[in-house]
Amino acid sequence: MTVPVCTNAPRLLVESFPTRYGIKIKAVQVAAPDRGGWGHDAIWSAVYASWDWQACPRLLVVYEATDGDRAWWVLMGGVRGEVGYDLDNPGRAVGFAFDVPGVILHELYHALGCKEHNMDRCHEHLARIKRGGR
Ligand SMILES: [Zn+2]
Repeated sequence: MTVPVCTNAPRLLVESFPTRYGIKIKAVQVAAPDRGGWGHDAIWSAVYASWDWQACPRLLVVYEATDGDRAWWVLMGGVRGEVGYDLDNPGRAVGFAFDVPGVILHELYHALGCKEHNMDRCHEHLARIKRGGR
């Protein structure tokens, strides 16, 4: 089973996803949006302007972590990224590269449609994708 994902970091995504799920990540559209700014709205405005959402139901953009992101990371106990506006319909995520492979994997789960932090549910969701569901 191959799942299409739009991204600015195709190799990183493919290499970060464990093979044990029997799901392969395939980067189908690559673009490199500038990071619009610091906050959620600025980041998502830039991301939304760079892709055709009909063609990209699943998307993960990876930005280089800034010093501000690193401070936020320390103060807030590890903010790894941003999920799209519509939290009931995950599938869109931004990750900040902290040289932590777990960050990319975490955001990749969101990009595949897993909601916030229930891994049992996430594994069920991945099994559904594997069976050909959404
Ligand atoms: Zn999360």
